[in-house]
Amino acid sequence: MKDTLKHQGLRNQLAKVVAEKGITDKNVLAAIAKIPRHLFLDSSFEDFAYQDKAFPILADQTISQPYTVAFQSQLLEIQAGQKVLEIGTGSGYQTAMLLELKAEVYTIERQNELFKKTKLFLPKLGYRPKYMSFGDGYKGLPEYAPFDKIIVTAGAPYVPKALLAQLNIGGVLVIPVGDTTQIMHIYKRTGVKSFEKQELGECKFVPMLEKKN
Ligand code: SAH
Repeated sequence: MKDTLKHQGLRNQLAKVVAEKGITDKNVLAAIAKIPRHLFLDSSFEDFAYQDKAFPILADQTISQPYTVAFQSQLLEIQAGQKVLEIGTGSGYQTAMLLELKAEVYTIERQNELFKKTKLFLPKLGYRPKYMSFGDGYKGLPEYAPFDKIIVTAGAPYVPKALLAQLNIGGVLVIPVGDTTQIMHIYKRTGVKSFEKQELGECKFVPMLEKKN
């Protein structure tokens, strides 16, 4: 768990790279420059941790590419104190980003190994989600709903109705939809039964799986 000046330098560089790719949200860029991504990866990847790439983590999953994390986070337009639900805790890197943006974070992971590892790991860095759930993201967390923002960090074959239902009026869901590649979708809840949909560019995530192992 060592974090050195060299790591800090690499992180500053990564924030620049992400900014050059089009991210403008200052809080998001500051978080990229702050979160020690090398500690979220297996030590064999340490030398690459500050490249703008996805890498394998436990259970055949991946830690998302920093640009993608920044892109989704910027789309969420988080205000301090907002309730945010994340589907796909994975390594916890995106969770850390949400916490840096001062959200109250609820997060769900379906791979038990990853869930257990990340639940122990995040508090060691001082990152404390409000609630971490081992469960199925397709169901959301009805007992904690409604949420101001919901972010899905796996490729969803379709938009789960439960997630739309758990948004506050005015709330926003950011979700990559598709099979092998996805299109980033934004759903804004404009009324009890009305949503505004926006489609952005293509992206690539590991699949959002329906059945438990
Ligand atoms: N935000 C993570 C991304 C991990 S990859 C990070 O940056 O590290 C996507 C994650 O979604 C994986 O950990 C995968 O296990 C999880 N996942 C896939 N389907 C899911 C589901 N139905 N419910 C909850 N998590 C799911």
